[in-house]
Amino acid sequence: MTQTRRDVHDVASERLRAIDQRYSTGRRKLVQILSSAVHPLVTTEITAAASDLPQSSVYRNLSVLEEAGVVVKVLTTGERSAFELAEDLKGHHHHLVCVDCGKVVDIDVPEDVERLLSDGVSPAIKDAGFTLIGHRLDLMGRCDQCSRSSRAANFSTTSVK
Ligand SMILES: [Zn+2]
Ligand SMILES: [Zn+2]
Repeated sequence: MTQTRRDVHDVASERLRAIDQRYSTGRRKLVQILSSAVHPLVTTEITAAASDLPQSSVYRNLSVLEEAGVVVKVLTTGERSAFELAEDLKGHHHHLVCVDCGKVVDIDVPEDVERLLSDGVSPAIKDAGFTLIGHRLDLMGRCDQCSRSSRAANFSTTSVK
């Protein structure tokens, strides 16, 4: 997650121009929020951080930024989704998803796992007639808060008996 890269705002402005869109103050603000976030943000977190922007404009601008390839949607669980900067801006990483609350955390996986995901699977990819261009790997689990509350729920059901 730590390579030197061009200024994210320059790239964003360039990509928006390519689809005939302006890099407005509101869009710049959303990119700023996402670039300083330590994990992908769900829309409620984004609207809370951009409280001076009307909610409808946050949604509209996120979808324009997504169309421009500046921002990507990260699927969490169910209907929930979160947003983060595109991989070439943020750097390659993976996600840890809580199956209960949908919280997403960024993680780096060991180099040998990365190698396995890019080279170790090549015969299967060749068999399917595909050319590999990248991969996604989401690890599912339960966050600290949710495992604590599920333990608490288990405890209360057992103590009722
Ligand atoms: Zn959780
Ligand atoms: Zn990877």
